Amino acid sequence: MRRPLVAGNWKLHNTVRDSVALAQAIASGMTPGEVDVVIAPVFTSLATVASCLSEAPHVSLAAQDVHWDDKGAFTGEVSAPLLRDVGCRYVIIGHSERRQFFAETDERVRRKIDAAFRSELIPIACVGETLEEREAGKTFDVVLRQVDAIAKALPQLDQIVIAYEPIWAIGTGRVAKAEDAQAVHAAIRERLAVHGGAETASGVRVLYGGSVKADNAKGLFAQADIDGALVGGASLDAASFLAIIEAAR
Ligand code: PEP
Repeated sequence: MRRPLVAGNWKLHNTVRDSVALAQAIASGMTPGEVDVVIAPVFTSLATVASCLSEAPHVSLAAQDVHWDDKGAFTGEVSAPLLRDVGCRYVIIGHSERRQFFAETDERVRRKIDAAFRSELIPIACVGETLEEREAGKTFDVVLRQVDAIAKALPQLDQIVIAYEPIWAIGTGRVAKAEDAQAVHAAIRERLAVHGGAETASGVRVLYGGSVKADNAKGLFAQADIDGALVGGASLDAASFLAIIEAAR
């Protein structure tokens, strides 16, 4: 049985004070259990949010990115040991916005995943096709190529979380049809089985992301291979995010 996971990606939003208020509203508004809940504030809020969640172990902290080396001359970067140090348990890696605007390649994504595991962080590794790729019938090629880069000879494959996020659905209000998303999730799981065996693949959580809201979450979560969601816009509002968490129970 895979435990559902709902993760909120706050992107470049919220001051420290706003982040604390939102984290507290989420932590106090939910009933712990059955669903793993993760929030990903901006780097500058992580330490303060971690301390405000010290009495709320049912909400875990994620960073939105990480550097692939543990330390060194990398001005402006943040490493996995430093994320661990401020209380992160998860890290989002390879989000499409990073692939699109910050030259994130499959190779860099994989190096970041290795860095996360070295510091005992759980990577939430993102994959997904553009609208152009989808319309050209390349969805499966693109997504499975990204999965190969993530999963090939990865010793900790059983611990990874994958987020399938069709890029055309992110922040656009266009959500993938539940059956279409399920078909991609099933293909991802099959490909994970090629890399790590069927038993490992059956334990890996594959999240859907792309305009998930309270009113479409239930239909997505009812699919056999959709194990939760990576949520952007709707995670910035406590009531909307809590409703998505409820839908995952
Ligand atoms: C995301 O940023 O990962 C995301 C899925 O955003 P949204 O829910 O706003 O589409």
